[in-house]
Amino acid sequence: MDFLSIIDKKRLGLHLTNEELDFMFNGYLNKKIEDYQMSSFLMSICINGMDIDEIVYLTDLMLNSGQRLDLMNKFPLTVDKHSTGGIGDKTSIIIGPILASLGLKMGKLSGRGLGITGGTIDKLESIPGFRVSLSTEEFLYNLDKVGFTLMSQTPDMTPLDKVIYDLRNASGTVSSIPLIASSIMSKKLAIGAKYILIDLKVGSGALIKNKIDANELAEIMIKIGKRYDRVVIPVITDMDTPLGDNIGNALEVLEAIDILNGKRGELRDLCVLLSSILYSHAKGESIGEAQKKVIASLDNGAAFSKFLEFVKTQGGNIEKIETSKIVKDILSNADGTIKRIDAESIGKLSLHLGAGKEKMTDIIDFGVGIVLNKKIGDVVKKGDILCHLYQKNDEDFSEEALNCFEIVQ
Ligand code: URA
Repeated sequence: MDFLSIIDKKRLGLHLTNEELDFMFNGYLNKKIEDYQMSSFLMSICINGMDIDEIVYLTDLMLNSGQRLDLMNKFPLTVDKHSTGGIGDKTSIIIGPILASLGLKMGKLSGRGLGITGGTIDKLESIPGFRVSLSTEEFLYNLDKVGFTLMSQTPDMTPLDKVIYDLRNASGTVSSIPLIASSIMSKKLAIGAKYILIDLKVGSGALIKNKIDANELAEIMIKIGKRYDRVVIPVITDMDTPLGDNIGNALEVLEAIDILNGKRGELRDLCVLLSSILYSHAKGESIGEAQKKVIASLDNGAAFSKFLEFVKTQGGNIEKIETSKIVKDILSNADGTIKRIDAESIGKLSLHLGAGKEKMTDIIDFGVGIVLNKKIGDVVKKGDILCHLYQKNDEDFSEEALNCFEIVQ
């Protein structure tokens, strides 16, 4: 078996055997295959796809490259939630505490930013002291004690996904449906919750750009789940506009705190919806009953207390969160109504400000980002503030920022 003929087979759109997939993926994990060879292979997958047997086998390779926790056998009522990634998506940091405050257990393995989308791990690392690398013992202890815990992939858990994820991010191969499905599902299966909600983001700022692809991804994930006796609940949600007002790591944590303290808007509504769906599946209660409990947990402060317990248990101190001191206001250059705030353009702007990585070696600046001051449908006058840019230096991003907004007369 040799890698060139396997790359060629996929280039021609042919089915790969388990042995061939094993050779390529484990070969890369074991450093027998170089980055440039694997990048070319991943690109051929991006272009020609994989069939369901290939996808399930790849998920299996990722899952079995590391340790498995099988949480559903250790804790009753364990649930999990994953987003396919978007701009301003900080829902996990809100939903975890809500559900834990209602007696469910959510232990999550999360990722870093991918492409223009932010990652929950980077966001949490913006809290000084917060530890995202936990031992299995600590993860299980936190889950038992707090009910919500979250960690980054350790070398022990799905290491194959970790190396492929990093390479995809740097090789323009993030948007492949089979690669997204196996990446997410391997992490979910390694944790081992029975009920897995997948927030499938669709739109300009998401990895998935249209509903057809979202439905295909949803079906693949349900099929993978069935093979492992898990209930996968896909929910397709919009990502044409950023989620919430804040984009950027520390800024997003601060907005999550605001939501847990009662801030209203579409971000809260989405968190209520997703929490209610998961709760009703796990507890076998109606969605209406679940929703009442979820809203009560936000309103009576139980979810926020749980968030504080979660952060403290993992060593973080929210009092010390810092955002950049250089803040520039972007002013409207026209009178009119805001028709569009493009999620993809905002995601790119956030990347250029330094909130994400353009190259594997870049270092993220946790304090930079964007705070939107206007919403779609708002009437604006020339000179009104559209958004604030939190910058690491004085560079002029005003043109790029203005281009994120479509204002019509
Ligand atoms: N989230 C993941 O964990 N993997 C992907 O490929 C995309 C989103």
